[in-house]
Amino acid sequence: MPAPAKRKTTKKRIAIFDTTLRDAEQCPGAAMTTEEKLKVAHQLARLGVDVIEAGFPYSSPGDFDAVQRIVKEIKGPTIVGLSLCRPDAIDTTAQALKIGKRVRLHVFLSTSPQHREFILRKRKEEVLEMAVSSVRRARDQIAEVEFSPMDATRTEFDYLCQVVEGAIEAGASIVNIPDTLGYALPHEFGDLIRRLRETVPNIDKATISVHCHDDLGLATANSLAGVLNGATQVECTINGLGERAGNAALEEIAVILDTRQELKRKFETGINLKEIYRTSRLVRDVTGVPVQPNKAIVGENAFAHSSGVHVDGVIKLLQRRASFEIVRPQRIGRDRSEIVLTSRSGRKAVRHRLAELGYELSTTELESTYQRFLALADQRKEVTDDELESLVADELRLAHEIYALDYMHVVSGGTTIPSATVRLRRNGEVFQAVASGVGSVDAVYTAIHKVVKVPHSLVDYTVSSVTGGTDALGEVTVRISDKSDIVYTGRGTSMDIIEASAKAYLAALNKAVFRAEGGAGRRKSRKKSKPKA
Ligand SMILES: [Zn+2]
Repeated sequence: MPAPAKRKTTKKRIAIFDTTLRDAEQCPGAAMTTEEKLKVAHQLARLGVDVIEAGFPYSSPGDFDAVQRIVKEIKGPTIVGLSLCRPDAIDTTAQALKIGKRVRLHVFLSTSPQHREFILRKRKEEVLEMAVSSVRRARDQIAEVEFSPMDATRTEFDYLCQVVEGAIEAGASIVNIPDTLGYALPHEFGDLIRRLRETVPNIDKATISVHCHDDLGLATANSLAGVLNGATQVECTINGLGERAGNAALEEIAVILDTRQELKRKFETGINLKEIYRTSRLVRDVTGVPVQPNKAIVGENAFAHSSGVHVDGVIKLLQRRASFEIVRPQRIGRDRSEIVLTSRSGRKAVRHRLAELGYELSTTELESTYQRFLALADQRKEVTDDELESLVADELRLAHEIYALDYMHVVSGGTTIPSATVRLRRNGEVFQAVASGVGSVDAVYTAIHKVVKVPHSLVDYTVSSVTGGTDALGEVTVRISDKSDIVYTGRGTSMDIIEASAKAYLAALNKAVFRAEGGAGRRKSRKKSKPKA
């Protein structure tokens, strides 16, 4: 007698579409250089995302180049270029993507009455026609096309159905439903997806995607409601970055679908959870946008603290974990090794630990990081993972170091007027300046500005410590904006807060100089408004 057939469980695969390089890149201060975008894209591929939205090639030659390089270099995920529904924009975007095999052209168009009337100034029929002809034009050049009716949640339902049907008919195989303003409630959004599935006659020919913004803190909840009602692609970003309040956080979506058993039985993603933490750190480091300490999954305080192990004993700790942790930190790659690095640790030990933390450095990057590690280790008994990561983050930023800090000397205290002497180096040339200020940092900044003359204003200056105690490694984040209101973020770490301040300021200035002198990512000659999809 044959054994009873086992019921085969088929899980529904939820495609993770990461838009950190497009939607998040648009948030103030998060602009990335092409090199930084590539670093993030490589890590996203390791994380296991299905799709990477690499940018908006039509907006500038820099964006075009960045998308093209990502298409060339990244293997695995599908690479997407976003485009307006305009023939020239579609053709330019197709041009950037053409060289790749797994590519997708994503066209978007506002469909809500508010946007039709005030932005597009077009009637319903004209907007529908634009959507259909744009999808066709995209399909003529790229095999895979995604269509987004922007502001879908405020679009009349019948009309939304017509546009979606038209786009699928014209060849879109993915239809994305964005809650562009982050206004929907989960039950409404879930309902919208369900009704679309029930109403649009050709909907089974397309993948339904969701793209939710977090203006009311509901981006993740809305995305999940979409999935529960039939969406099989979620558009999201690392650390929930994105325009205004941001997008749904990739790490939250992936961990939710893996943590709740009733969901895990039905759905799966291709995400390697162990890569989540290092991806979050990398994005934080290259964008300079900090992660709030209480952020779900990746925030510093997101997990029960493991200090006090010696006092409580291991058994108590294990009990505490079982009763208080719904997600183990190790599951998202947040291991804290027992290995202690000191000034006696060799290159091999440092390289090994960095690899465990997810950093793949070139030989020169490693050597430079090691030298900085030794300098720090000489002053301290041991170097923690956080400190080591800070050194690497510094190293990543040095990639576009134009002016380097050679020497600085500050005189302050008591009744003296604070003054600073600063020596900077650029391509072997040395520049020196002296300045006074209302405080030490002010004096240093004035001196640096005498050398690096790029016009800018200081937007923000914050100090925090990487580790506790008075001998902590201090971290300074500086944000400046240039004359075209582009914001540049610089971070610097040092045991001396004045030095950390100087490094941070210089890092931000270097980015401004890089762009002013025509580096990649400049938005000069062909500046176009960026989409809000
Ligand atoms: Zn968006």
